[in-house]
Amino acid sequence: MAWPSADYDAPLEHAHRHARDWLGTLADRPVPPRADVDDVVAALGTELPAEPTAPADVVDHLAAAVDAGLTAMPSGRFFGFVIGGTLPAALAADWLVSAWDQNALLRRLSPASAAVEQVAATWLLDLLGLPADAAVGFVTGGTMANFACLAAARDEVLRRAGFSVAEQGLTGAPRLRVLAGAEHHESVAVALRYLGLGAPAVVAADDQGRLRPDALAAALDASPDGPAIVCLQAGNVHSGAFDPFAEAVAVAREHGAWVHVDGAFGLWAAASPRTRPLLAGHHLADSWATDAHKTLNVPYDSGLAVVRDPAAARAALGMRADYLLTGATSEPMDTVPELSRRAHGVPVWAALRSLGRSGTAELVERLCDHAQAFARGLAALDGAAVLNDVDFTQVCVSFGDDARTRRVVEGLLAEGTTWMTGSRWREREVLRISVSNWSTSDDDVTRSLDAVRRVLAGL
Ligand SMILES: *Cc1c(COP(=O)(O)O)cnc(C)c1O
Repeated sequence: MAWPSADYDAPLEHAHRHARDWLGTLADRPVPPRADVDDVVAALGTELPAEPTAPADVVDHLAAAVDAGLTAMPSGRFFGFVIGGTLPAALAADWLVSAWDQNALLRRLSPASAAVEQVAATWLLDLLGLPADAAVGFVTGGTMANFACLAAARDEVLRRAGFSVAEQGLTGAPRLRVLAGAEHHESVAVALRYLGLGAPAVVAADDQGRLRPDALAAALDASPDGPAIVCLQAGNVHSGAFDPFAEAVAVAREHGAWVHVDGAFGLWAAASPRTRPLLAGHHLADSWATDAHKTLNVPYDSGLAVVRDPAAARAALGMRADYLLTGATSEPMDTVPELSRRAHGVPVWAALRSLGRSGTAELVERLCDHAQAFARGLAALDGAAVLNDVDFTQVCVSFGDDARTRRVVEGLLAEGTTWMTGSRWREREVLRISVSNWSTSDDDVTRSLDAVRRVLAGL
């Protein structure tokens, strides 16, 4: 075959057909994969071809080889981890992002992507109840959002103490205390590790995993005031619980600490009047990390790093070089750790444009309603106990002793109707249900509860 031709039609048409075939199977396909990694490697073949292959044939081969190894994560019956599906408008917009192939780093380089992200950022700050002039960085996910926000936090609290991380690094810096609730997400700890700050000091949490403001006050009182960062959480991965922001921020402020909120999926509670009270006081913090690829249901990779003080974000994350066409205004690259990147904000814009304000609220409410339906249905089962207050999208259930709960988790995976993950929370094995997919229907919940009943009956 000759050098790949400039004909995009055939490969794109084939990809379109494979995508539609895949999406068409989601309603009835078992959720778990039917093949393991070795099976898929064998189906792909490991020999690097000596000669070029026609693009449409590459697409066909890929789609056929991986099918059995795909997990139906966009299915309405996937409740594992906290993984959303993909809204139709967001998926289609994401295809265009690939086709347009814009490097979204600079306004002058791609006015199109900068404009779409600017509008999306304004809408996001409004829906999430955050200050209208905060900086929004479109990053790859919650971990990088935590990283970007905490980079701004680190540099700013040390700058206030008279120390420049940009110029001096961390060697010789004043001691910086970082505190986080006992049930903080591991990605906060990993972001702190990347930033050279080490593990956070752990502040006691209550029975739902919420940081206790009295414990925070005691921890901050225990040593003299100096640079400090307090990490709060909106949406605990087990209970769905929210830290008491108003009280915790007040305590942190007394000690001059920067307050960061990890709200990877929970920050979206702000989008509905029904769930907004869960977040009371969250807007008083200094930075907020969230995902768009979870609750908002856009494709990967999509996270949002929001920093109240744009100058702090720019100082920590921005760069300047003579060859870059930077203007006087803030550039998209100033608020993210990457330089070259795809236009992550475009599918976000498409999701919000397609849902509107009312649809975004309804999305969040539907997830909560389904979680409550799960909690009611599960609580009625023999030996089952729902362990958390189901105020948001997460349900943790035990089926008696740890061994029995583990058997239910394994049995469900083997059964295939639904995917829920096992975990350990508050010293017990649990089946953890996370309702994150826009497309989950009442019927999906009923079918999934029926599957749990069947597995219990078969134990
Ligand atoms: C998922 C999650 C993260 C990490 O987000 P990624 O997008 O997976 O990097 C951080 N915090 C919480 C609470 C999460 O649920």
